[in-house]
Amino acid sequence: MMNHPKLSHFTGCLLGGAVGDALGAPIERLNIDMIRDLFGLYGIQGYVFHKKHGRFTDDTQMTLFTAEGLLRAITKYESKNLSEEQLVPIVHQAYLRWLETQDENVNEAKTIRQSAPTGWLIREQPLHVRRGPGSTCLSALRSGKVGRVAQPINKSMGCGGVMRVAPVGLIYHFDAEKAFDVGCWTAAITHGHPDGFLPAGLQASIISLTLQGYGLSESIEKAVSILIQRKGHESTLKGVEIAVDMFERNCAPIPENVEILGGGFVGTEALSISIFCALTAFGSYRQGVLAAVNHSGDCDSTASITGSILGAALGLDAIPPEWRNRLYLDNIVLRIAEDLSKVEERHVLSDWDLLYPPC
Ligand SMILES: [Mg+2]
Repeated sequence: MMNHPKLSHFTGCLLGGAVGDALGAPIERLNIDMIRDLFGLYGIQGYVFHKKHGRFTDDTQMTLFTAEGLLRAITKYESKNLSEEQLVPIVHQAYLRWLETQDENVNEAKTIRQSAPTGWLIREQPLHVRRGPGSTCLSALRSGKVGRVAQPINKSMGCGGVMRVAPVGLIYHFDAEKAFDVGCWTAAITHGHPDGFLPAGLQASIISLTLQGYGLSESIEKAVSILIQRKGHESTLKGVEIAVDMFERNCAPIPENVEILGGGFVGTEALSISIFCALTAFGSYRQGVLAAVNHSGDCDSTASITGSILGAALGLDAIPPEWRNRLYLDNIVLRIAEDLSKVEERHVLSDWDLLYPPC
């Protein structure tokens, strides 16, 4: 098997996101005073509860299904150069498989989903657990409607779009503009407001540029140059500008400063917080992710987004081993990341069509 030159950045990105998600999971929606009361002045510094094993939430579950949908679309069309028309229905089907893992009413999900439950991911029973799924994602998918950038199905601007698009940046690591478009398309399936899907495009684009070898500041700058060409970009741009400005003014990544950028429940805020935490980490995955965890907001999502950016930039080894090695279901995350890195070789992999059947 060929060793992908960027494999550690693929695995670092997805595992980095999952670890951040797992670190933030126990304190999602607690305010910083409660976090400090429970864990001390510096807040959470590692996994808590679950015998100190990390358990990721819906953010990572949906990230895995985003990857699966992309891989199946590429298998079907034998190309990465996909249009929105080609890609969106297949990623939507992947999200319906995720819905089936979530719903008490499994039959409802099965009725909406048209294709057979093929592929390996949905057969992973430990993924069949509700870990704080976002209400917008659930309701949008239950509606059976498929959102498009030009045909939104709602006005949602939640962070459920941006939190799940890291695989887009990995697949389109050669083309930041395409990564931007595909990031927007996959988010707009459930989130119809530009503040919901444009941060997803920007996040995918930043990861793509990072994998091309650009530094973090330069990646953000180049991704913003794509963003500003898109309609409705003002709030997303403002969020990034404030985050970069705070970094340039040497604002410390302490909760009081992170909270200036919002709570992260909205897509624009989640990305703004993540950019600030990633920039101020100065190459330390641990520092960046802990800054994104310890604030009064949607901390599993902000830590997941921050972790995927830093993991893509720094590679797998940058993630502290005690977090990497104690993440529940890390094998599933790593397997998806490795398969994303093997897309070009899929023709010579004997079981690829069974793992990622074209549908
Ligand atoms: Mg979550």
